[in-house]
Formats: sequence, structure tokens, C-alpha cells
Amino acid sequence: MKFKEAVTYDDMLMVPQYSDIESRSQIDISSKMGHRTLRIPIIASPMDTVSEEKMAIAMYRAGGMSILHRYNTVDEQAAMARKVTQVSDWSGQIGAAIGVTGDYVERTESLIAAGVDVICVDVAHGHHSLVKKALETLRNEYGNDIYIIAGNVCTLEGINDVADWGADAVRCNIGGGSICSTRLVTGHGLPGLQTIFDCARTDRDVKIIADGGIKTSGDIVKALAAGADFVMCGSLLAGTAESPGQIVSLPDGSRVKEYRGMASKDAQLDWRHKSSTPEGVASYIPYKGTVLDILQDLEGGIKSGFSYTGARNLTELQHKVEWSRQTVSGLAESSTHIFTQSGRQK
Ligand code: IMP
Repeated sequence: MKFKEAVTYDDMLMVPQYSDIESRSQIDISSKMGHRTLRIPIIASPMDTVSEEKMAIAMYRAGGMSILHRYNTVDEQAAMARKVTQVSDWSGQIGAAIGVTGDYVERTESLIAAGVDVICVDVAHGHHSLVKKALETLRNEYGNDIYIIAGNVCTLEGINDVADWGADAVRCNIGGGSICSTRLVTGHGLPGLQTIFDCARTDRDVKIIADGGIKTSGDIVKALAAGADFVMCGSLLAGTAESPGQIVSLPDGSRVKEYRGMASKDAQLDWRHKSSTPEGVASYIPYKGTVLDILQDLEGGIKSGFSYTGARNLTELQHKVEWSRQTVSGLAESSTHIFTQSGRQK
């Protein structure tokens, strides 16, 4: 029997190195996606509790990107896209998701007519013949006029094939999302950071999107250092003023918003009025305020992370990074642990 050992975000740390960077303003965390440059390399997940028009506008203004979810009719999704591209200072990037069966060709057509310039072929198991067929169909129809993200994959063979089938960027990670139960239900997946280490060995001209399981700005720095060009986040951006859904006040005074996996029973019942075996869960997460505040904190943390490796940009980070593996007690030490001793939250 052959098996591989695989590590994830909490298993690894980057070793601090000599730095001559005197200010965070000297650090550039931007990343290129075709002719676009994302000032912050963060993309909001195509989920119905994360990415609709308000999130797309906020992410655009902050220098990131959002992928409008596809759990609606073709007209509803196109209307959402138009609300974004009518924004007065609009000059750029918007992504939207499609599937690989049913109305996906018509959906793509109407999204492009609405001004969308990044199409995301959004399926759970991207290393699949249906994704190959969809990518070939899109490339035949549009040539290189559209930028295509596809996924998800978690292996070198997966990213290579999806790139060869026509994807410009690939979402990497299977089963690592905070609301995901794929690994429990199917027994399949690969720890998230290992996925990036493996996919980064690709020799294809393709961008890597580390998707799911990103909990902190530290995890974002780890994903980028391991070889990702962008991270895709759901839970980090859900529960904000710009995520879809209502704020719910609980009896204890706390405020929450819904955040759910798109393969959860809850979501399936809402968008297709029936459910098959769920591979995700529905939850509430604390309300966190505006996405701009969250992104500012993340941006500061990411820049600080680059600085600890002495890196002024993504290329330097990936070139200079030194990894160490931490033990379970190392992880406990790495987390704030005063509360587990005698402290009380202030
Ligand atoms: P998070 O940032 O850890 O919350 O993960 C978000 C990612 O989880 C998304 O970008 C998707 O790749 C993935 N995802 C969304 N819904 C589901 C689901 O129902 N099951 C499995 N994965 C999901």
C-alpha cells in the first residue's frame, strides 16, 4: 500500500528571517490575473451567503474580487452582475459562477452580456469529464476572450489536466472548507496546505487559487508562500454587512448571520427544492461589521507576514520562505492561550 503524509495550515509555520523592510508601505501583495491586477489577492467564494452584488462592489473597491454565485436563475444572476457594472466608478473585474450541465452555456452568454469578464466553472470535483467538456465548449465559443477559473482539484494531475482543458486559474482544495463535510461523507480530500504544495509543482501557465479552510491572515500568507497566487474565502467574508442575508439577534444579545455550504441540505432545498446526501452544513456566524474593516485587518496581517520573511512581494515570498513543521504543543503555543490558563476575555 502506498500513502502520502500530508500537512495543513496548522501543521506548518514560516521561520522568521532577516528583514530590511522598514514600513508596510514597501510591501506589494498584489497578484496578476490575466490583464487584471488584484491589489489584494483575495477572492470571495461563489456562495449564496457570501457573494452577491454588495460583496462584489465591496471587494472590487477594496482591490480584491468576488465571484457571484450561481444558485439562482440566469436572469437573476445577470441582473446582479449589471448592478455591479453600473456602479459609477466601475472600471474592472467581476467574476460569476456557472455549472457544467443544464443552462451553463446560456448563463455564460448572459453573464458576458452583463459585463462579467471572469467565468468560474464551479463544481466540487473539478478533475472530471464534465468539466473537460464544459471548458472545451467555452473555449470553442469564446476563444481566449474570457478568463476562466475552474475547479476544484487537489492534485498535480488535477491542476495539469484542468489547465490543459482550458482553465486560466484553478481552485485548489477538496474538502477543506469550514462548512464542508465532503471528507466526512466521502472519505476523500487532501489537507489544504499540502494541496497547494502539490499543485504548485505544475509546469503549466496557470494561476493557483487556494480555496477553503483559510481562517486567518496567517493562513493566507502560508497559502501564498506555498505557491498560491490568490486565496478564496467564504467564512472570513461571511457574516459581514455586505454578505447576503439578515442580521439575526439572539436572546443573549449577540448578532449573527447565516453562513452555509452550497451542498448543505438547507441550501439544496432552497435552490433546487430537493436534497441529495449533503456534503456541507448550515451555520450562523457572528456579525462582524463591514467587509472593508475585515479586509483592512487581513491586508495588514498579510503585509506583516511578508515582512517576517523579508519579502517585498509575492515572488520574493515564494522564493525566500523557510518552513518548519510544528507539533501539537507547538500549535497550542502558537494560539493565544492565556484563556486556557487563568485569563478572562476583556
Ligand atoms: P471557507 O472559506 O473555509 O469557509 O470555505 C469556503 C469554500 O468551501 C468555498 O469557496 C468552496 O470551495 C467550499 N464549499 C462551499 N460550499 C461547500 C459545501 O457545501 N461543501 C463543500 N465545500 C463547500
